[in-house]
Amino acid sequence: MAVKDIMDALRGKDLSDLGLKENLAQLVKDIKLIGEDLDVVLYLPKPGIESLLRDKVHQALSGVPEVKNIRVRFADSPPPQPKQEIPVGQPAFTRRPVPGIRHMIAVGSGKGGVGKSTVAVNLALALRNIGYKVGLLDADIYGPSVPTLLGIKGERITVSERNKLVPIERFGIKVLSIGLMLPSEDTPVIWRGPMLMKALTQFLFDTEWGELDYLILDLPPGTGDVQLTLAQNVEMSGAIVVTTPQDVALADVRKATSMFKEVNVPVLGVIENMAYFTCPDTGKRYHIFGKGKVAEFAASYNLKILGSIPIDPEVAERSDRGEPVVITHPDSEVARAFVGIAKIIAQNLG
Ligand code: ADP
Repeated sequence: MAVKDIMDALRGKDLSDLGLKENLAQLVKDIKLIGEDLDVVLYLPKPGIESLLRDKVHQALSGVPEVKNIRVRFADSPPPQPKQEIPVGQPAFTRRPVPGIRHMIAVGSGKGGVGKSTVAVNLALALRNIGYKVGLLDADIYGPSVPTLLGIKGERITVSERNKLVPIERFGIKVLSIGLMLPSEDTPVIWRGPMLMKALTQFLFDTEWGELDYLILDLPPGTGDVQLTLAQNVEMSGAIVVTTPQDVALADVRKATSMFKEVNVPVLGVIENMAYFTCPDTGKRYHIFGKGKVAEFAASYNLKILGSIPIDPEVAERSDRGEPVVITHPDSEVARAFVGIAKIIAQNLG
């Protein structure tokens, strides 16, 4: 009899009658088997159910004669999430669709500062402008910038009667961000593994999104826990990667693209941001960071370029003031580029 067999028995014990989503094994923080004595430490997800959980352990292990004495203790912090290996080429996790959402699209990048959040926000607004119902989830929980970009920094998320988060409506889209939940703007967000997973899952599944055609996710840059958690747990239509034509950005976006492929999230295409600058006096285009590099990268990964967004100093200035270009300057070259990309995405996804 190994601890693994005991864990298997606990895994088979459903706790839905106690109002818990987890099975018994998922609450185990620590477990030791010494001879016939089993010592289990369980996470107590809510108070008052200690004896019920204790009974569940006894029931689960009633068919395991090797365990004679069972001692169950409780802890008030959740167990660490196990690091899981993701096998290449097969979906190894149960991905759940978010109810009411037709298409979920993650916007990722290799590096910070390439304009990922600017793209996520303006793309969401462009999809809404061409007639879709759209939500935007700021999953960049380490550096949420969506509240600034949409000019809703001071607002706070509320909770509905059904105990669900109520997104803030801005420019016709539904918005959720950890930045709209912290006591103040300067509160540092220090999340540790299990808490992070829980927050993200809650953002997605316990929110009053209603019926949406598109939910855009602004991911943190790079290839960290957030990307993996989402890829493992949530059914997505795909990811879009944003890069500038700079070598440093391209080196990292290659890694991000490979990660999406490895976890079987289809990459819908690449958006080249800060692709060129159009001189307002002459109308001449200058490819400040170089030309053709993003196309080369896209070709090597067999990806489509969904569009190229020019550099526009107004974009930076207005973004900081919470005025997204698609709303404030719908006729600008940048806004038109976003609408073009939105149309391609809508066409591709049907
Ligand atoms: P990321 O999410 O990748 O960290 P941001 O969206 O925060 O990047 O953008 C980084 C900075 O670049 C911001 O100041 C933003 O306003 C600016 N920016 C993004 N795209 C453009 C663009 N096309 N033209 C000019 N400035 C841009």
